[in-house]
Amino acid sequence: MHGTHTRETTCDVVVAGSGAGALAGALSTAAAGLDTLVLERTEVVGGTSAYSGASVWLPGSRVQQRAGIDDSTASARTYLEALLGDRERARREAFLGSAPEVVEALESHPALAFEWQAFPEYFDLPGRLGSGRSLMPLDLPPGDLGDLLPLVRPEVGRDRGGLGHAEGPLTGGRALIGRLLKAFTETGSGTVRTGTRVTGLVVEDGRVTGVRASTSEGAVRVHARRGVLLAGGGFEGDADLRAEHGVAGSAAWTMAPAGANTGDLIRAATEVGAGTEIMDQAWWCPGLRMADGSAAFTLGFRGGLAVDADGLRFANESQPYDRMGRAMAEQPGRIPAFWVFDGRFAGGPPAISLPGATAEEHLERGSLVRAGSLAGLAEELGLAPHALERTVERFNAFAARGRDDDFGRGEDVYDRFFADPSHGTPNPCLVPVDRPPYFAARLVLSDLGTKGGLRTDTEGRVLDRGGAPLPGLYAAGNTSASFTGGHYPAPGVPIGSAMVFAHRAALDMAR
Ligand code: FAD
Repeated sequence: MHGTHTRETTCDVVVAGSGAGALAGALSTAAAGLDTLVLERTEVVGGTSAYSGASVWLPGSRVQQRAGIDDSTASARTYLEALLGDRERARREAFLGSAPEVVEALESHPALAFEWQAFPEYFDLPGRLGSGRSLMPLDLPPGDLGDLLPLVRPEVGRDRGGLGHAEGPLTGGRALIGRLLKAFTETGSGTVRTGTRVTGLVVEDGRVTGVRASTSEGAVRVHARRGVLLAGGGFEGDADLRAEHGVAGSAAWTMAPAGANTGDLIRAATEVGAGTEIMDQAWWCPGLRMADGSAAFTLGFRGGLAVDADGLRFANESQPYDRMGRAMAEQPGRIPAFWVFDGRFAGGPPAISLPGATAEEHLERGSLVRAGSLAGLAEELGLAPHALERTVERFNAFAARGRDDDFGRGEDVYDRFFADPSHGTPNPCLVPVDRPPYFAARLVLSDLGTKGGLRTDTEGRVLDRGGAPLPGLYAAGNTSASFTGGHYPAPGVPIGSAMVFAHRAALDMAR
């Protein structure tokens, strides 16, 4: 019956999308005994969450206590207060109040276990923990997943190359998604359907009662007795929506899986009256431009310097990636920028760059250029011949003194976290660029997803344009507008907040 007949099914809860927020919400409703159906558009589950490092910012939980970290809900509150001021106090408090219980609820399932991970928070403000307070899932032996393993989206480099999982344990986002999926399945109340794209919402008597979806076998209509949770990422992969809302960067340079997050669910909800907020915002980062036109999320610069099209530095290269991305977004005329480093890093670009490649691989593909002198490099890059030399000379003088008079690189604990002290420079973030050959990569403005989206309340309920809840409809993750507005406070905020609001939505549906 291909395409001619709409199949109908009924469950208690429909979850659209299968990132960490979606699966955390689905796990909570399934654990409460509600018959829960996860609908995922692509053939694998996990979305960008599976690509992630799976740092999860859930302050004040038992995991930080176990690790003896000086973390508390109160200090996290102080930190958010200092950064966000009056913005979104109600959702902030809901987040802080629920974070510890979300961790407890997750760890009540045998499949889920977390540990504390050192990763500094992104702003030098009161309440900050210099060593960070993010959690990470424990690595997951593939055997623990059994038949579920091929369902988990592989690491970004392998996924873009059409390869499956590497040998060995699943780490980072793969471990988080694998563990959530296993726990969800083990409840006995959860089902996942991949290849099922939610295209619209069903509204009856003013209440959202289900979704319409398309599959390769035709249309489906799913009735949901308790509610619908939309958690299908943002609209980072949709060039038109990005342009309409003025999101800096490009759909080609986003880190979300190709073609996955195109704003379907935001569109579906606005069609039934939902309001939206902060639609011009994203979780930004510098991206190393790859030969195929995509970008590689690049953070933790351990060497080199970034210059604009005039051969001038424009920012502290070692600052947190969203702040570096914002510095790039604020100066669009200066992008693409060039990341220049020298022969002491000949083995590969001195940073964490995902997907990764060695210098030779980059050179072969054309995503890195090499020259015997700075003047030769400038010529390859089309820069004014002496500008790059002058900038590098100034930078090397900063490196010798250990102080960056222009951008203060290396003054913050975050900058130094990724630095390599083995170069023996007075400031580990300032390593001279003076050993030929010289290398340069193009830096573009990439993102980890958009962060504007549906307006929601403390329970993850989607609000209409007048601010009233749309009964039966919930949203979390990048489908909803983040309470953090124009800031990325700390590692793990995207996933931590997605999981908390999905969990709160689940509790509301189970009530
Ligand atoms: P996703 O995880 O992208 O999930 C959305 C899913 O919904 C996708 O599978 C998609 O196919 C599906 N979908 C879309 N439309 C539909 C539809 N119509 N019907 C059905 N399904 C649909 N964040 C952190 O907090 N900590 C980190 O350590 C971290 N590290 C990162 C590292 C990398 C390399 C990257 C790329 C990102 C990282 N991030 C991190 C950011 C974070 O991964 C994302 O912001 C977050 O995972 C987004 O979650 P989401 O649920 O909104 O979307």
